[in-house]
This record gives sequence, C-alpha cells and structure tokens, in this order.
Amino acid sequence: MAFEPLSAVPDHSALEREVLDWWEREGTFDALREQNHGGERFSFLDGPITANNPMGVHHAWGRTLKDVFQRYKALRGFDQRYQNGFDCQGLWVEVEVEKALGLNSKREIEEYGIAEFAERCKERVAKYSEVITEQSKRLGMWMDWDNDYHTFSDTNIEYIWRFLKAVHERGWLYKGHRSTPWCPRCGTSISQHELFAGEYKELEHPSLFVRFPLKERNGEALVIWTTTPWTLPANVAAAVRPDAEYGLRDGDWRLASEGQEYEHLAKGEDLVGLEYEGPFDDLPAQQGVVHRVIPWDEVSLEEGSGIVHIAPGAGTEDFELSKIHDLPVLAAIDESGRMNQEYGKLAGFATEEVEQPVIDALRERGLLVEAGRIVHRYPTCWRCGTPLLFRVVDDWFIACDEIRQPMLDANATVEWTPAFYSKRMDDWLRNMGDWNISRKRYFGLPLPLYPCECGQLNVIGSRAELEERATEGLDQLQELHRPWIDAVPIKCERCGKEVRRITEVGDAWLDAGIVPFSTLGWQNPEWVEHGFANGAAAGLSGADLPDHAYWEQWFPADWISEMREQIRLWFYSISFMSVTLEGRTPYRRVLTYEKLLDETGREMHRSWGNAISADEALEKMGADVMRWMFCEQPPGQNLKFGYGPAQEVKRRLLTLWNSVKFFVDSANVEGDWMPDDARELEPLDRWLLSRVEQLVAEATDAYERYWTPDVVAAFERFVDDLSNWYIRRSRRRFWNGDRAALQTLWSALVRSLLVIAPVMPFLAEHLWRVLRSDEAPDSIFLVRWREAGERDEQLFAEVAQTRRVVELGRQARAASGLKLRQPLRRLMVEGAPLAEGHVDEIRHELRVKDVELGEVEATQLRVKPNLPVLGPKLGKELGAVRAALESGEFEELPGGGFRAAGHDLSSEEVLVERTGKEGWAVAGGEGVTVALDTSLDEELELEGRVLDLIHELNSMRKQSGFELTDRIVVTLPDSAADLLQHEDWIKEEVLAVEIRTDGGSGEPEIAKA
Ligand SMILES: [Zn+2]
Ligand SMILES: [Zn+2]
Repeated sequence: MAFEPLSAVPDHSALEREVLDWWEREGTFDALREQNHGGERFSFLDGPITANNPMGVHHAWGRTLKDVFQRYKALRGFDQRYQNGFDCQGLWVEVEVEKALGLNSKREIEEYGIAEFAERCKERVAKYSEVITEQSKRLGMWMDWDNDYHTFSDTNIEYIWRFLKAVHERGWLYKGHRSTPWCPRCGTSISQHELFAGEYKELEHPSLFVRFPLKERNGEALVIWTTTPWTLPANVAAAVRPDAEYGLRDGDWRLASEGQEYEHLAKGEDLVGLEYEGPFDDLPAQQGVVHRVIPWDEVSLEEGSGIVHIAPGAGTEDFELSKIHDLPVLAAIDESGRMNQEYGKLAGFATEEVEQPVIDALRERGLLVEAGRIVHRYPTCWRCGTPLLFRVVDDWFIACDEIRQPMLDANATVEWTPAFYSKRMDDWLRNMGDWNISRKRYFGLPLPLYPCECGQLNVIGSRAELEERATEGLDQLQELHRPWIDAVPIKCERCGKEVRRITEVGDAWLDAGIVPFSTLGWQNPEWVEHGFANGAAAGLSGADLPDHAYWEQWFPADWISEMREQIRLWFYSISFMSVTLEGRTPYRRVLTYEKLLDETGREMHRSWGNAISADEALEKMGADVMRWMFCEQPPGQNLKFGYGPAQEVKRRLLTLWNSVKFFVDSANVEGDWMPDDARELEPLDRWLLSRVEQLVAEATDAYERYWTPDVVAAFERFVDDLSNWYIRRSRRRFWNGDRAALQTLWSALVRSLLVIAPVMPFLAEHLWRVLRSDEAPDSIFLVRWREAGERDEQLFAEVAQTRRVVELGRQARAASGLKLRQPLRRLMVEGAPLAEGHVDEIRHELRVKDVELGEVEATQLRVKPNLPVLGPKLGKELGAVRAALESGEFEELPGGGFRAAGHDLSSEEVLVERTGKEGWAVAGGEGVTVALDTSLDEELELEGRVLDLIHELNSMRKQSGFELTDRIVVTLPDSAADLLQHEDWIKEEVLAVEIRTDGGSGEPEIAKA
C-alpha cells in the first residue's frame, strides 16, 4: 500500500482545520457517542464558562484538560455526558452591557429601562455563547454543542428557588444588617468570596493623625490614625488595647514607645470609658452622639498611634464593635458612594472629594496633628476595579454554621489532584462566613423572597407555586427575570395580604451552584424535552430537562476540573447546595490548576500589551501545540504561556513528525508493503514493541491519576527512544527494505499515536489517517484503548545500559577532540554488564573496532577533599589527609569512599575525578565508566577519510535532489586513489555503480548513473 507523503514540517493550523472539517463531514463525534452508548458511565460535569466575552487562553487551559480526559475515557468505551455550560446572568454581564451602552450608574440603567436592559444582557449572552462555542470547537473540544445549559433558564432559576426554600425551612435564611464591602460604581455589596476574587491594588491614600480632645481632661487629647478621612464625620468611638501602655506628652495620648519620656503613663484599660469631643460634632448626623473610649484586643500596635477611630457605619469590624458596645451606627454614604444628607456641606460628594474639606476643617480646628500620604494594598471590585468602600446595608444571608461540618465531612470523601488542594478547600470551609446571596442589581437570579409586614417571610419554591399564589401580573410574565417578575405580587401565606418580592437579585454562584441538580433533573417526575431551554434560554439550546432516574445515574460527578479560584466559588457553591439538598458531595474527584501568566512570568493584561487572545494563539501556534503546553504543565504551578514556549513545543513535536515521515518514505520505496505480523523479529524490534507497551502502561497509569505531565513525559521518552535509538540503529535495514523493521516501526507508531491522541487530537488524527490499515476505523477516536501488553524488562535494562555507554562514549570522543567519523581501535567499558549482548551496537554507534567489558585500567583516579564538608569535620587533620590524597596514598572503599591518612572518607566528603591516562579518553557517571583508545594508525586514518568521503557524497546527493533510490557515478580527484582500497564499501554507502579517479585535482563530483 502507498502512504500519503508528509511535508517537511507540519502546518499545524491548516492541518487542524482540515481535520475539523473532516470530523464534521464524517460525524465522527456522533459515531463515537453512538459506539459508547450504553457502556459503563463516566460522569463529567462542566462548570459554566461566562458567556460575556470571547474565551481567553486561560480558559483554553481548563477546557483542554476537560477535553483530554473526556477523550481518554471515550477511548476506553465510557458512556459520557458532554453538556457544556454557560454562565449567563449577574454582575459580570451587567457591567459589560453597561459599558457597551455607555451607562454609568444604576440611575441611568433605570432611565434606560430594566426590561430593555435585560434584553441587551440576553443578546450579549447569545452572542458570546456563539463566539465561545466556535473557539472551543477550534481548540478541539468535543461537546454536545446544541444542548448547552444556560444558567439563566427558568428551569435553572426554579431549581435555585427550591434550594432557597429548603434553606428557609431549615431556618438558615436571614436578613442581615451589617457593614459590608461595597462597590460604589456597581452599587452593590460584595460577598466574601467576591472580595477574594477582586484584586488588592497598590493605592495612595491620605494618612492622617487626628486629635480627639478628652472631655474633663483639660488640654489632653487622644491621637488617632486614619487613611479614610471620609469616615471621620461618622466617628462614634475610639478603641484602645486594654493591656497596652499609653503615654501623654504635650497634651497628646498615644501608644507609649520605649526610650521616650512621658508626662504620664496609663494602661489602655484605664482610658476606657473616657469621653471625648468628636471632630465633626456640629453635623446633623452627629446630634446626640456621645463619643467614648472602648476596649478592643485587636488594636494594632504595629502602625498608627495605637488608638483606632471607630465608625460603625463604615467598617466591618467597627460594626461588630457597635453591637458589643451598643454604639450608634451612622451611615456615611449612599449607594453610589456619596456622603448622605446629614453631613452638611459634605453631603452629595464622593468619598475622595471630601478628603480635602475634611483635612481643612481639622486643621482649622487645631485637630490635625499630621497629614501625609500612604501607599498601601487596598481591595477593589472584582468586576469593575473600583476601590471598595464599606457601607451598612440590609442583605440576605444563608447562615453557614450548621453546614460547615457536613461540608468538611463531604470534602473528606473527595479526591483532589493535586492533593494539597483538599486542604485549601478545608481552610476555606473552616473560615467561610455566612453566604451573602443578595445583590442590589437588575439582571440576575430573582430572589423569591416576599417578606410581609405581618412578620412572615414568604419564600416561593417553584413557578407553579408562584402561579398559584399570584394576585396579578401572570399574563405579562415572559420569563422569571426582572422587571417582569416584580409585577407579580403574591398572597401572604399567614395573613393573606398582598406582598411584593424584594427587588434584589441573587449571587451568580447560586446560578452555577445548582447545576448538579437542575441539569440532571433531580426530583423531576417526567422527562421534559427541551425543558431546560426555557425562559431567557429559549431558542439558545435544545437542552432537555431529564427525570429523576437520570439524575440517579449521573450524580455525583465522577470528575470535575476548574481553576484553583473555584475552591471558594464553584467547588464551594455546588458543594454547599449538594450537602444541603442531598447530604453529600456532588463530585468524587477534582483536578484543579493554577494561573496562566505570560512567558516571562507576569500576569497578562491587555493594557500591558502582553495579553494573547485565544483566537490569535489558536491560529499562530495551533491548538495541538497549546494543548501540549497545557498538558505538560504541572497543574499546581503557574503556567508561563507564550510564543517562545510554543516554538519549543513545535520543535519537539517535529521528532514524531520526522519519524512518521521516515517510515512513510521508507515504506513507499517498497511499493507493495502491507502491515502483517508474520515476520522474524530482531532483538531491537522486540525491544521497540516492548517499549511501546511500556509507554501504554505509563500513560494509562498517568491518565488514571489525572496527571497529564506524566503522559507527555512518557510519550517524549518513547519518541526519543524510537527516533534516536530504534530508527537510528535500523537505518540500514530500512534502506534494504527490511520488512520486519517496517512492520515494527509501523506498529509502534500507530500504537503510540493512540496514547497521545487525547492530548493532541489533530496531529494524532492526521497521522492516523496517513498510517492506518484499511480494516482499522477511519478515525483514531473510534479505536478502542487496549491495555498494555507484556514487556521485557530485562531488554529495557540492557538497552538503557547500552544507550548509557554510547552516551558516555560520545562524551569521551568529544573530550578527546576526535571527529565522530574517525574510527578508533578500542573501547573499554566498566559497570555496564547488561550491555554485553549489544556490543555490536556500541561498536557501530561509536565507530570502534573492539569493545571490551570489564575493568577499566586506563584511568587515573584523582581524589580531593570536599572542603566545605571535610574542613569542619577534620579541623587540623585536614592538611595530612589532603597531602595523602594528593600523593595518591589512599585506598578505595566499597560504596565510593576512600581511606587516607587514617581517616575513612565517605563519597560525599571527597571530589573524585577520573581522567584518561596518556592516549585514552575517559568519561563516567552513575556507576558506568568508559575509556576510549585515542591512538590512530594508518588503517584507522584511511577509514576516517573514507567515511568523510561517504558523508560528503551523501550530502551532495541530497543537495542535488536525488531520490533515495537513484544510482550514481562518482568522480574523485587523483589524490583520493588510495581510498579505492574500500571501493565496495563506498559504492554501497552512496549507491554508486561506478567510482572513477580521473578527476584531476578538483573536488569530488557525482552524476546520475
Ligand atoms: Zn464594581
Ligand atoms: Zn402577612
């Protein structure tokens, strides 16, 4: 059979597009699912990607890992779900739509119209789910693209309602009044997990030391420190650390520092209870406030003055203190971060706008001790980057104290890869605060909470329940989103009064957290065709709502994979909801991975010019190269991604390409070659076939551990063995059309392609289509995984030692300065007994006439003290030991040690150098030593010249573009006549039919015979 010839190098992008078209035309993915239908189940659950922007290269990392393991499991015949998910609602979509529409505040959104705004959000999701789908296909991701789940579907929303109702029935749902991080631009509070998701930026703020004059202590004042001047008008207390010592000097009380003189010293507890005049007592907000000193153990003694100004309306800890000490809570700012009406001249100004007026007022009143600037790390909004403020608001929370331990117990049953992430999850669970689920926004999960003035909190658990209890507005309810849902009041279940929904929407992690239930049809009595693609998702997908029996089959997921951030996001939210509803974890195994950085190790930012878009990477690098980089990377470390590393991967992939090309060219010379098994194999053939079984074993083990770096490493070692040992050692057999060699190489190649196909599906598929035999499946993905067969471990060890000897022999040659082509007389080898049966290979590889295994005597041993180790140990004795070693008066001990001047020295305490004696080149390591006889005689020199000539003639053949099989006539200069002693040898090596020596004094020439 004839194989399709390969080009010199692969054009990855062109090849990948061709394979994509072919898969599409042939319906390969459908055929695979058909083939595996009814097989053992492997349940994968996709964490939704935000359908809000094109996917980035960091998404490509995660999507590659998902695809690699789904493809691997498919090769093993597992029946799988391939449902992709899109995250569709919440702040991320809103903020992008605001930007696109040029809206800058919540007021402007309301003027634009909430219904219109919702439509724009839906359009954006529709657009980017298309874009991401196309990008993911290009990456090679096989998913059931017409059946995606969208988190904003009515079904998904209803399932969250059900969860919230369950939470309420347990008494965990409550409305909290507290000071929380707040984004003034987005006009909403930020939950604990969102706070972590945001960046801490280096920001410059004022640094003020301010005097609070003490009442009834004439001329004495407390000095406090603050970096948020806007909070001073809302001050109600000053906190001291009870056990710390404070000192009074020049009328100012501060933390006492050592070596300073003070007029008075006092413990913090002695200051507690003192009253002081606030800095802005004239403001309406401050009317009736009595300012006093309170104790607080958490006061920092590291920075500031040791006295902390407390404004419970503008800080989380301040707020907690207000509850303990019964302090008034003054709300300083409104939704948009502007000072409230009760703040006099400051009212209506943004927090940074009041900095200067506050400083001026303090200075005027003689209260300013010092005004400077400070650069510190400050939290910003995860969505829009605006510095966060603190504000007292009413938010809805799920209490988590009762679920904490069950979640920890559930996590203990999960197998994490890498394993240390399990502890990270535990840490998060131990520290998680109550879940703030409400956002004062527009396009998000409508929280089904209807508080009544009678005190009843009505929680709606389904659409049916809503319809049953609605008093009006059902006719306009096109979907369960704002503003439509807001126009449907219900009847209070306790007093019968009409009640309205709170206007808040839900945290987006509720949307993503419910998918192990909503997409699998938990507790759903009957399968509903397209039942998931309703509400805002209608028309975007054909996803069904399965029934409960289906859920039973596919829950919990056998495996999920997302990036490390998801520990406190998706992994947390699905676990929270699952432990609540079912009392167990929704996933058995997790693979998680770190961050993607640029190739120099910096974060990628569009504004820094170092970001690479996924589209650009896919075209310029090719999907396989990207996937290779993602798979090679240990997932617990940050990945340095860029064109430099991509080039390096391409270079390495070339070894495989060249090996296949070598096979194809060799087989095509033998026009009628067909794969068959009935050949007599040589030991090297048996070695390669055994070696490929070893590859299968190693890769299977790595895949089963979800550890792609070991798959890639095993494959690279194999390709190195195949190319740099098997092919290299067998070239002559291929030239001679040796069928056993062709058969062996062909078998090894097709078997190894299957191993790497999940990692680089395109190249594997392409090469498979070139190599496959007629009766094999058209696509490599329709082949079944075969377990590793028998391996000859003895043979591996022999060849490994042989390769080691050859490597050392090359080092010795290089050190001697002799050309590799110069034949030599003798090689002595010590410490490689297993190479005995491979002496011929060593002779050929190193071009030596004789190889002797045994003791190498041709070396000189030099031993020196390892001073940093031995110096401290021997002290004065060192000199004697050194002298003994230098003069060769030492004895070798078993295990690599030495005895000198009466001391036993271990191998770590000495530096050992073996050099060749005159006329020998030596190299050694890992217990093997080789010595090469470097002396030349006439015969060797002549052979050296013959080999130079052969090399030259073959280069000329190549440059002249001759076919591998073309016969030639060679013309040599007169001076080369003596080389004709080896005429037959030369003829054979360069496929010459005639060698003439009438070339005068010119260069050698060749011509087609
Ligand atoms: Zn924001
Ligand atoms: Zn009521």
